Parts: sequence; structure tokens; C-alpha cells
Amino acid sequence: MRSFIDVSPDSHFPIQNLPYGVYKLKVGSQPVCGTAIGDYVVDLSILEEKGYFKKTILGDKKVFSKPNLNTFMALGREAWKQARIVLQTALSDDNPLLRDDKELQKIVFTPMKDVVMCLPAEIGDYTDFYSSREHATNVGIMFRGKDNALMPNWLHIPIGYHGRASSIIVSGTSVTRPKGQTKPANEENPVFGPTKLLDFELEMGFFIGPGNSLGEAIPVNETYDHIFGMVLVNDWSARDIQTWEYQPLGPFLAKNFATSISPWIVTLEALEPFRVKGPEQDPKPMEYLASKGDWAYDINLDVFLKSEKETEPFKISGSNFKYMYWNICQQLAHHTVNGCNTKTGDMMASGTISGPTKDSYGSMLELTWRGENPIKLPGGEERKFINDGDTLIINGYCQGQGYKVGFGEVAGKILPAK
Ligand code: CA
Repeated sequence: MRSFIDVSPDSHFPIQNLPYGVYKLKVGSQPVCGTAIGDYVVDLSILEEKGYFKKTILGDKKVFSKPNLNTFMALGREAWKQARIVLQTALSDDNPLLRDDKELQKIVFTPMKDVVMCLPAEIGDYTDFYSSREHATNVGIMFRGKDNALMPNWLHIPIGYHGRASSIIVSGTSVTRPKGQTKPANEENPVFGPTKLLDFELEMGFFIGPGNSLGEAIPVNETYDHIFGMVLVNDWSARDIQTWEYQPLGPFLAKNFATSISPWIVTLEALEPFRVKGPEQDPKPMEYLASKGDWAYDINLDVFLKSEKETEPFKISGSNFKYMYWNICQQLAHHTVNGCNTKTGDMMASGTISGPTKDSYGSMLELTWRGENPIKLPGGEERKFINDGDTLIINGYCQGQGYKVGFGEVAGKILPAK
């Protein structure tokens, strides 16, 4: 499959991908829904206006001339599949309709560099899981020792907590270093001030399409139809604030000051060829968590840190989404098994994705082992945690034969505390 738009083999956005996002032109315009192809964004509100989706479930509905994707996401999998076929056909090399309509092309395609990406969805609720066995084990060893590394519930329950949706921000948005209470080990009383242990968390998140009603669980093997697609997530964390506040109710201000996401939602349709077997689960999960088939995804994830003194970002970690112990179907089944309702646009994040080797850990906490082994940057600087002026960049992609299905990146710069 090829598009009439030139797409380099290294691009994250070939015709096999077609992620959904929301953007506006740099010079004053309303946000609209679009897709990405090569170095261009495609204005879906115009294609909709021109009747491209008329013969699908979308009919004459206006779902793309909106400041978020929620209306489209609520339509469900059959509508998503039909819209994808329309777009792949319209952008394809051997279909003349759009290929030969130079006038329409002028208003439909905009170079990516001329637009500003917005949050793709109105996110009502955000849940953060803790589903990487390697991450949970590393943190457990650091804080409880090798023998009690995994909590006794961990292999039975996809552990999670409710995060904060209001502070989810799109890639490129800067983050102000948070202040809060911490309790230095050598002090008798807690102190107040900017966090000294600011960290990133390499995660991915999925978006809810159609939700479920209060009181109704989503059976694990029906969860697929409720999941629209995925983004990259950096769940910023203040480790010193976290250590002091987290007992007995879990993370609070250490986590809710900012969560960054990549702007393009890559659909499960585009990710389908990259579905792989996940880690062996022993003990066998309970019946309500027994997902059929392979639900891990082979998604390469790389993390880069760019200090203000460096010209190029420096790679500090390379992990993969396939390492996740609990899969997205199990997470959603568990989330709703008690009758908790989910709504269109809700976001669920995976938890830090650490791989089996030291260079595949998904946080500074693990990469530097609580600061014991600082990371050396090429210019001679060292990092135990993240400094003011540092930019943290995560990118992610699936490698197909001769093409990539990518997520682009999620980047964020740390500004000094106010
Ligand atoms: Ca997290």
C-alpha cells in the first residue's frame, strides 16, 4: 500500500498508520480533527464536508469539525474501521479522486511544521496502572529489599490508582518544577520547597471509545471494542514528595502536577500487525482476567534527555511495550469489574514500562538506581534526576517491513519552580 504523498521509510506516519489528532494552524484558526501522512496533516473536517465519509456509518454527521475526537471515538469500532478504509483509499496512490484534485489538496494538506497540535480528546478521567513486572520489582527491591520486592497482590491484580485528568498536557508543553513537602532522612521535621528528585515515567496510554454504564462490567474478551487507540505518556513524578506522602492512600501531589502525552492517537487497527504474545502469567489470572489471544504489542520505546548545554538529545533508555505483564484488555476488565463506569475520552496509562536490562528501565529512579549510578551526558554533565532546563523526549514506533507505524514523540521541558 502506497500513498501519492511522499513518505520516507523512516516516517512514523505512512498510509499504514493514519493516527487521529487535533490541530490548529499557527496563525489563528479553530482546532479541527486530522490525520497525519508523511510530513503533512490532513484536515478531516474538509473531507467530511466534501462527503468522503457519506457512505459509512458516519453518514452526514459532523464528527471531525470539532475541537476533540470524542464524537468520533464514541461511534465504536465498525465506524472506526470504515473511516480508516475511506482514508486509506483517498490517500492511496491508485485512487484519482483526491490525488488529481489539486485544488482540494491545497486546503486539505498542511505541512506539519505549520500547525500546533492540541490535546486529542476531552479527557474526563485518567487512571494509571502499575503493570510492568520489571518496574514493580526494581522499585520493590529499592524500598523493601530483594525478598519482598513484589507485593503479594501484584501477580493477581492489575494494580492502579486514579490520576488527575486536568493536568494532562500535550507534547511540547513545559512543566514547572513542583513544590511540596518532603522529609529528608537526616531531618526531624518535614520541609517545604521545590522537589529535588524530579523524574519521568516511560508509559503508554489507551483511550476509551464507547464507555460502559455504571454497574455494568466489561467482560475481558469484549474490552477490545471499547479501546480506540494509544499514545505515548510521560507521567512526571516527584520522588521525594511521593516518599513522604504516599502512605496510606497512595500517590497524590507527587503525580498530579503534570502528565504529558503525544498528540496522535494510533488506532488499534494500525497496531494490529504488531500484536505479540505477552509475558507468561503465573499464577494463572482469575477467570474475569483471562484474556484470549495475544494482547501485547511490539512497540519500540526510546527515551532521550537534552540538557540546555547540549545541542543533541542523548538516549538514556530503550524499552518496549511488549514487556508489560498485564495487557490493556486485562486492565480495562479489572477497572470495570466492580461496576465502575468509563466514558468516551477517558485515558488509562500502563504504568512505567521497564525492560529486563539496565539500559531499558523506564525512570531515572531505576536508571540511576536512586541516584547511586548517575547518568553521564556526552558534554560531561551528570544526572541523578531531572534538572531545570532539561527536556525529556520519548518516542515510539512499530517496525513493519519497509515502513514504521509510529507515535511521533512526547517532549516536555522542565522550568524552574515558581
Ligand atoms: Ca505512573
